[in-house]
Amino acid sequence: MTDYTITRWTHASTMVGSSKDDAIEIIVNNRAATRQAIIDALTLKHFKIKTRSAWKAKEPATSPGKDWDYTAIAIHHAGNSFSCAADGADEMRKAEAIDLAKFGQVSYHYAIDCQGTIYEALDIRYKGRHIKDGNAGVIGIVFLADFSTRGEAEKYGPGVWNTTKEEGVKRGISEGLGVLKDEFAVNHDEPSERQLEAASALTKTLTDFFNISTLGGHREFAKALMTSRACPGVYGMIIAGMLRRELELAAP
Ligand SMILES: [Zn+2]
Repeated sequence: MTDYTITRWTHASTMVGSSKDDAIEIIVNNRAATRQAIIDALTLKHFKIKTRSAWKAKEPATSPGKDWDYTAIAIHHAGNSFSCAADGADEMRKAEAIDLAKFGQVSYHYAIDCQGTIYEALDIRYKGRHIKDGNAGVIGIVFLADFSTRGEAEKYGPGVWNTTKEEGVKRGISEGLGVLKDEFAVNHDEPSERQLEAASALTKTLTDFFNISTLGGHREFAKALMTSRACPGVYGMIIAGMLRRELELAAP
């Protein structure tokens, strides 16, 4: 692994045309090399991973803030408007469009579709936007599926009134619509075996590169911050618990 990283390091230096004695460039390239090494490690384990350029990610109008010293992983599901019946790459672009409109950037670092393809959603060198007031040091992984069961949004979500109070009428109404949609949603996805294998490999690989101590569902991170979210749904919570045990990590 060490030799491999060094090869990549040299490659990245050549690409940006930096001189070898430029200390700042070396730090930047180390991060670039780590980003690539994560992708390569998953490829070596025979997982299909699509980089941002491979799935033709759009460049955001403004560059997201930087982040690096990750200590936690948060598990999300894309929710009711997403389905395993749809094409994974289409669902990735749909999640991107929603996030660009809402946050001006893709909010999660990685996405996993129902066929087990892993997407580099946001370059790992940039800060996610997946947990309200709690993104620093947290890697966001989203399942491009709906892992909630009927009524979960009403039970665990922030509630229409709280959202309206905190974020204004427009967001309150959209939260209300989400609750309604969830109540009447009958088609939920169940995690596929390939998807679980990909999640296990991805989180394991991330713990090889970062000093990760915590893993949990979005719901748990929100609770720790005194807010509430239904995400990642009942199945997403089961997956988060399973990964946490497998990797011997703490809850948020
Ligand atoms: Zn979430």
